[in-house]
Amino acid sequence: MQDELNTDLSILESHMDGMLDRVKTNSRTFRHFQDFEVRLLNLNSLGEMMRHVLADAKNFFDLDTVGFCLIDEKGEISEYLETDGFYLKENKELKIIEDDKVLQDRFGYSKHPYVGLYSEQKCAEFFLHAEQKPVSVALIPLTRRGKYLGAMSLGSHHADRFEENMATDFVKHLGSIVSVCLENNLNFETLRRTSLIDTLTGVNNRRFLEQRLGEEVDRAQRNLEPLSCFFLDIDFFKAVNDTYGHQAGDQVLLAIATGIKGQLRNNDVLARYGGEEFVALLTNISDAKAQDIAERIRKTIENTVVENNDETIKVTISIGTATYLPGAERTSVSQEVAENLVNNADKALYEAKHAGRNRVVSGRAVLDVEVAVSNLGQ
Ligand code: GH3
Ligand code: MG
Ligand code: MG
Repeated sequence: MQDELNTDLSILESHMDGMLDRVKTNSRTFRHFQDFEVRLLNLNSLGEMMRHVLADAKNFFDLDTVGFCLIDEKGEISEYLETDGFYLKENKELKIIEDDKVLQDRFGYSKHPYVGLYSEQKCAEFFLHAEQKPVSVALIPLTRRGKYLGAMSLGSHHADRFEENMATDFVKHLGSIVSVCLENNLNFETLRRTSLIDTLTGVNNRRFLEQRLGEEVDRAQRNLEPLSCFFLDIDFFKAVNDTYGHQAGDQVLLAIATGIKGQLRNNDVLARYGGEEFVALLTNISDAKAQDIAERIRKTIENTVVENNDETIKVTISIGTATYLPGAERTSVSQEVAENLVNNADKALYEAKHAGRNRVVSGRAVLDVEVAVSNLGQ
């Protein structure tokens, strides 16, 4: 009797231990999931989000492979990611697809996740990046407002990690959170782009320039590198509108913006400052080199022919330049330097106009010492 009781007791104890272990594992998974979610909700860009999901999900959820596919009908997502430093060539775990066909085939209208063993037929498409195919998987559709955004694929080398009869609440919840973040980041990215880009010419607008100018001056001070600024204004542009009409004028503006941009490097900044005025910022080149580039831009515009119906339109451009030369002692405030730089370029442009237009005039350089002294005087 006593023996039987003892046996029952030890069986009970081992059951209890097993249950306790499971509770511990579950609460650990739950905590990991919460941490993962909090981080995900705090990320500010699509690139950061992809990095987090692809790199951290493995550790957080004890997985062997994590993949993503995103629908990118207009190529915007790829562009956002690349400008964010997230290169698709280096990140094969993220696959860009053009439409939702693969997702419709896999998840149908129900849009339920698939949890269970890996099969070539069901899962191959989602694990092309994986060197070793997983044994069990969770394929999670990402949807918002009834539309597919993409899918997330989690894989493990253990058969019992994702079993077919498993509750899918966890993966469904993960799918919803990732979808909301994805949509948020995409909307934010689109808003940021459209509010900083001039719709007519496709170059940046004045707001963007004002943001970047301060950053570029800071960088120039940090690295002790020159920063050049061009103020560019189309000559007699009013006459173009008067002669050919406003629409033709718009076409000329677009052609000029494209012409200027073509002469700049990728990391230079070009912004439409106002009606027919542009400002360019060129980093880390000597004043002499800046003059060469300004002259090249002037010539390019002089040789640009804009076709309008049966007519051809030609315009010229005047350019004022100024360069900031930071001193070893950082004495001036970047805001002051930025203002002086644009003002000096603007004054040089004014001189170019008065000297007959279609020319480049080099303005006064901005020096740290002078800015600091003028600040003291105020
Ligand atoms: P200047 O050589 O002294 O610069 O002469 P300008 O005629 O270019 O200068 P002004 O400032 O007198 O005229 C600028 C013109 O630019 C007036 C305006 O109609 C035109 N403009 C400004 N924004 C736009 C635009 O978005 N589209 C078109 N088509 N014209 C514009
Ligand atoms: Mg003008
Ligand atoms: Mg003007």
